[in-house]
Formats: sequence, C-alpha cells, structure tokens
Amino acid sequence: MSPVTGLHHITAVAANPQLNLDFYAGVLGLRLVKKTVNQDDPFTYHLYYGDALGRPGTAMTFFPFPGVPAGQPGRGQPLETHFAVPVGSLDGWRARLASAGVDVQQASAATGAPLLRFRDPDGLPLALMGQSEAGVGRSADTWQAPGIEPGMVIRGFAGMTLSSYRPDATTRVLTELLGYTEAQADGGCRRFNSPDGGADDYLELLRDVAPGQPGYGTVHHVAFRVPDRPALLAMLERVQAWRMPCSGEVDRFYFRSVYFREPGGMLFEIATDDPGFTVDEPAQSLGEALMLIDAHEGMRETIEAQLPRLTHP
Ligand code: ZN
Repeated sequence: MSPVTGLHHITAVAANPQLNLDFYAGVLGLRLVKKTVNQDDPFTYHLYYGDALGRPGTAMTFFPFPGVPAGQPGRGQPLETHFAVPVGSLDGWRARLASAGVDVQQASAATGAPLLRFRDPDGLPLALMGQSEAGVGRSADTWQAPGIEPGMVIRGFAGMTLSSYRPDATTRVLTELLGYTEAQADGGCRRFNSPDGGADDYLELLRDVAPGQPGYGTVHHVAFRVPDRPALLAMLERVQAWRMPCSGEVDRFYFRSVYFREPGGMLFEIATDDPGFTVDEPAQSLGEALMLIDAHEGMRETIEAQLPRLTHP
C-alpha cells in the first residue's frame, strides 16, 4: 500500500466566518459539514465544507481569525486549490461566479486541461478543473445545494499548486516520503500524481514564486490521507526518521493527525480517514449545530457568547 492515498483536507485562513460561509456553501455549493471551534483557540470557529459527508479528498476547512492581517500567497506556501468539476459544467460555473461578482479567468492547467481561476472573498486562490465525466473527482456522494445544477456539483479536490523555498527537498518529501510520482510537465512547474488518484489527483510545484506572507487569504496547511491509526503511526515513524519538525500524534476528534514542517516551508499534515464527521452528529443534520469536543463543552456558554452568529445561505 502507498504511504498516503492523496489529499485529505486543505485548511486556509479567513477573515470573516459569515462571508466564508456565504461563499463556500452559497456560491460554490459545498456542504457545511462541521461547525466547530479551533481546538487550539476555542473562541474562533473552525468551519469544514465538503461533499455530503465531508469525506477525505473533499474537505476544505477554514480558521476565520478575527483581526488577522491580510496574507499574501507566495513561496513556502500551498497556493491554489483546484476543485474537480465535470468539464461540461465550466460555462455554467463561469456564469454563476460572474453573477456572484467573482472575477473569473479562463486558463489551462500544465496538462492543457481547462481551468477557471478565481479567488474567494479573502483573496484565496481557487480554481475549478474540468475533468471528464467518467472519473471526475473522488466524491461518490455529492451534496446537492440549491441553485446548483446536478451536473455542476464540485466533486472534491482535483489537486493543488505548491511553492517551496527548497524545491528539490520538497520533491523528495512528496515522492520518497508521501509516495507521489513525478510526472511529465512543462517548464513552469514540477507535477506529481497522487499514489491512488493518478493524474486526476495531482500536486504542482511552481517555480519562481515571490515570497508570501501568512494571514487571511492563504492556505494554512495541506493534509494527506491515510486509512487508519496504524497507517498514521507508521507514517509518524517515517516523518521522525526524516528529522523534520513534527507534532507527534494529535487527536483532532474527526481524525487523528501528525503535522510536520517540510524543508521548503510548508506545513503538511497526515490525517486518518476515520472516524469522520458523523462521529458526533447524524449525517442528515451535519453542520447545523455548534459541535464542541468534551474539553470545550464546559465552556459552551462563554464560547457561544463570543462567536458571531452565522446564517446559513
Ligand atoms: Zn488540518
């Protein structure tokens, strides 16, 4: 079995939770699958979006930190998140995004595949990647949001672009540690296919990117998936053998994780597929109530008083 099986989730920093919810659930039509708080800072939200269950490979998550400065996507950061959509839906998406006031650029990926590039309300770079209807995305259980045609629904991640201060060292982490395979690409980037998803589930390491600044509108970390805890602990041993700064095992309640800083500057996480977001609320009402882990449940009143109320679009 490969060390990891592709992307698990992508976590970014946002400025305003309501604008974030309006955009990801309202405009992009993802399901808000978990409304909880940052485990390390329980007075701020942690919002998770994804397919009907927020399955690994579909989960886009945000820390909306009030008062955080604007960031600048750049070198040493994961950069642009690519969502998979059926190739025939790109015209519909272009119209939908434009009518929501989103500035959209038509582009091509390194493989020549069509791409719509845009930014979220905080300036986070995003793209919709048109994939053939047959194998598009990895979500078997998409979420049908109002106003989104069934043939347009986002099917999870297609891939993402990365930028490294030490591209050779990052390449070794991606290939030798995580099991990605380097593929043919044009001069602008190095391309890697995921161990399980192949060419439809990729990472692109861009060259010549200007230095970035952390803050809202930037990716905080990228998580790669492993099936379960034994696989996570096997990866932890390997990460430690590579002598990268590492968190050890962390219980994130919806999954177990190991975080490490790769030599090119990016924060990577390895996270288990289980138990997932139905561990504390039923599938049909995911995301509706504020869910708190036991350690924070005693502070619920104070936490709820400090968090801004959110209205579902
Ligand atoms: Zn994470």
